[in-house]
Amino acid sequence: MSITARHCLSKIFQPITATSKNSKITRQQVTSKSQRLMLELGIIQQSIPGCFHLLPLGVKSLDKLIKIIDNEMFKIGGQKVLFPTLTNSKLWNESGRLKEVGTELFQLQDRHNHHYILSPTHEEVASEMLSILAPLSYRNFPLKLYQISSKFRDEIKPRFGLMRGREFIMKDMYSFDTDIESAKKTYEEVCNSYENIFNTIGIGYAKVLGSSGSMGGSLSHEYQFKAPIGEDNVLYCSSCQYSANIEVCEDHQKCPNCGDEKNINIQCGIEVGHTFLLGDKYSKPLKSTFIAKDSKPEVLQMGSYGLGISRILAASVEVLSSETEMRWPSVLAPYNVIILPPKKGSAESLQTEGMPEKLYSNLEEKIPGLKNNILMDDRTSLTLGKRLLDAKRVGYQFTIIINKKSAEENPLFELIDIKNNKQLYLSKEALCDYIQQNF
Ligand code: ATP
Ligand code: MG
Ligand code: MG
Ligand code: MG
Repeated sequence: MSITARHCLSKIFQPITATSKNSKITRQQVTSKSQRLMLELGIIQQSIPGCFHLLPLGVKSLDKLIKIIDNEMFKIGGQKVLFPTLTNSKLWNESGRLKEVGTELFQLQDRHNHHYILSPTHEEVASEMLSILAPLSYRNFPLKLYQISSKFRDEIKPRFGLMRGREFIMKDMYSFDTDIESAKKTYEEVCNSYENIFNTIGIGYAKVLGSSGSMGGSLSHEYQFKAPIGEDNVLYCSSCQYSANIEVCEDHQKCPNCGDEKNINIQCGIEVGHTFLLGDKYSKPLKSTFIAKDSKPEVLQMGSYGLGISRILAASVEVLSSETEMRWPSVLAPYNVIILPPKKGSAESLQTEGMPEKLYSNLEEKIPGLKNNILMDDRTSLTLGKRLLDAKRVGYQFTIIINKKSAEENPLFELIDIKNNKQLYLSKEALCDYIQQNF
């Protein structure tokens, strides 16, 4: 019955501090609402500009996102790998990207004067790995390899906290097919899977035509969260439903698809994912080949698919939060429910002894999705009012308050549901039902 210490608020490492009191951070370095809230409410901590410590609640949320992604990748036969971050610069020379990406690359030399980069993305590495194994048989394909790892980019302006870091976490997938038609099919399949991921997260997004930039390839789509702080401009034409990053539109007034000038709408977006149909842009120079049915070697056709993992966390908080209160999508919230027992020493505290723990176990038993997602605010030397304010700021969807009414013959619990803006008094059974239905 006892609640493990890791689900008691007093034991959680969640340093809550005003950014003005944080000696590491100057005011100028706090450039977005989500960055400030995540810093102040103990989700992240700044290391050097563009690099952040992810604290326990941040990691809990990250793990939830990774689980959603792993689930979707499993459905389409994605296989998880882990490539080294340190990459031989030679590979980037062979693909032609060493010069092109240039200043955004972190480059270094080892003691033997060999040149390396800290990978900002892994198209070259994935292609080379297959070329070492080449020639594999056509029977080995299609192949979808993905990883979730740290990426490094020397961003000219690291800002907005996790949204534009110099070290950040990306999920990147590389697909290999034996011909361009099947590569296109794989591309569609992964795009559908990415749409499932964004639908599960539950934040409105737009899938728009994207620019291939230095990545290359023949087709690309971006996944954008709408937000005023977004650094991309997304064009939407309500006449023909065409939407694109304006980087791919030659004339920003006109719809590139139907030519309409009146029903064009341009909004700011945060790019949270990007997919590319690459063809042989990397597989050809890096010699990733396979043995075709006629026993001759042929070049593989590739796709590349990035999701900004750490950016998605911050962008979600950015879209949902107010200036003073942090909010999460339910599926990514570090905890969904917090229970506030009465203040220590109060009459209610004595009358309801053991009740908070019992309620905790009941909720966990009845609602499997709440396992490890309920927190006990055991800081009972603080008033209920103070703890309630904290709970609202941190943004648990459900706050359950155990007070006078809980000590009555037919105990009632006060429930605050911040998502649906409701305050209710419910019996234990009705409380479980309500949370189950609205979780
Ligand atoms: P941006 O246009 O914002 O610079 P990008 O187009 O350079 O991003 P991609 O190369 O397409 O980024 O990388 C795939 C995904 O990685 C992006 O869609 C984004 O979600 C994420 N990402 C890119 N750069 C960063 C960064 N500096 N910090 C955090 N996430 C990033
Ligand atoms: Mg970039
Ligand atoms: Mg971009
Ligand atoms: Mg991009």
